[in-house]
Amino acid sequence: MAYQLLLTPGDGIGPEVLNDTRRVLGWFQQNRNMAFETEEAAIGGIAYDTLGTPEPDETIAKAKKADAVLFGAVGGPKWDTLPFDKKPERGLLRLRKDLGLFANLRPAICFDALKDASSLKPELVAGLDILIVRELTGGVYFGEPKEITKLPDGQQRAVDTQVYTTHEIERIARVAFELARLRGGRVCSAEKNNVMVSGVLWKQVVTAVGAKEFPDVKLTHMLADAMAMQLVRNPKQFDVIVTDNLFGDILSDEAAQLTGSLGMLPSASLGAKDANGRQLALYEPIHGSAPDIAGQGVANPIACILSFAMCLRYSLGRGDDAALLEKAVDRVLADGYRTPDIMQPGMTKIGTSEMTAQIMKALDKLKQ
Ligand code: NAD
Repeated sequence: MAYQLLLTPGDGIGPEVLNDTRRVLGWFQQNRNMAFETEEAAIGGIAYDTLGTPEPDETIAKAKKADAVLFGAVGGPKWDTLPFDKKPERGLLRLRKDLGLFANLRPAICFDALKDASSLKPELVAGLDILIVRELTGGVYFGEPKEITKLPDGQQRAVDTQVYTTHEIERIARVAFELARLRGGRVCSAEKNNVMVSGVLWKQVVTAVGAKEFPDVKLTHMLADAMAMQLVRNPKQFDVIVTDNLFGDILSDEAAQLTGSLGMLPSASLGAKDANGRQLALYEPIHGSAPDIAGQGVANPIACILSFAMCLRYSLGRGDDAALLEKAVDRVLADGYRTPDIMQPGMTKIGTSEMTAQIMKALDKLKQ
């Protein structure tokens, strides 16, 4: 049976990196006994230009039917002056919301060949492999009330509301524990249970889920601010980190920086499994549309290609193929090939399409 994939290239370098990922997908189709049916749909700025909305209903409907969505990037200066509800980013937010993608998985992996590109000492990041599981659809970004009101004395008052229910915490905790079982068997939960009642509940619920359903996984807790510090002090102490929407946003960006370049990092956003085990999912590089380099053929396609590797692992159950692709990327970097964003002295500078070609050559060699 063919896997149904929806491709939403978006804006800027989105189409460049996603087109190259499609070539890699073709390699797997030809060489690894798997079939894909792909379809493209508009999202973001390009959708606004062609269809008058950054979040077309037909794109959302197609995404719900697909086994997975491969997303490029959206946004750019051309659309910066549009009203809030027409901005390209609305497309991505609507996809996440309508597909119920509550679990955001962001690996921070440091390829050995790139350990010198990190702002930390090479020995602190060499071999780094952390997975941050961020709650994506609740918390302070969505809690009500969320408003700015006028006070009688003429000042204004702004309120955001941090809110979590037991159910929301349980389901994200389960994702983290299940993933830890496939990795190092450890989960660290980051919260602020010292000053926030949402943090108190978060800690209680994660602890209860761990004790009842995952006694084999080692659970620890850390205050979110302490974790921000530990991530730059001794990042390799972590295996899986689980945290809320706000702390996850900040901590995952911090962890990303440990690994050197935005152009290297993939992500996955997963929904709940239905009664048949079907789970909606979206895979995307963590970088944006990089308007400063769009159209020049120099964007690093690796983040997008590794997002496809995550799709192989988490949506298609093809963990071996995901590992093969990750190994091919590792091999190409070890052979000294670099796009400009990760260029280092003495290495060979290549563009987007040549990087993809090298990864496919490495796949050819590895499959033998
Ligand atoms: P960005 O990630 O697009 O770019 C930041 C810097 O990193 C730029 O210098 C860029 O050239 C570089 N970079 C990013 N990806 C790269 C790659 N694959 N290869 C080489 N270099 C790369 O972030 P930004 O500049 O803050 O935002 C640009 C636009 O993207 C904005 O409109 C923003 O809203 C949007 N954005 C979209 C997403 C998304 O679609 N998920 C995420 C972040 C930002």
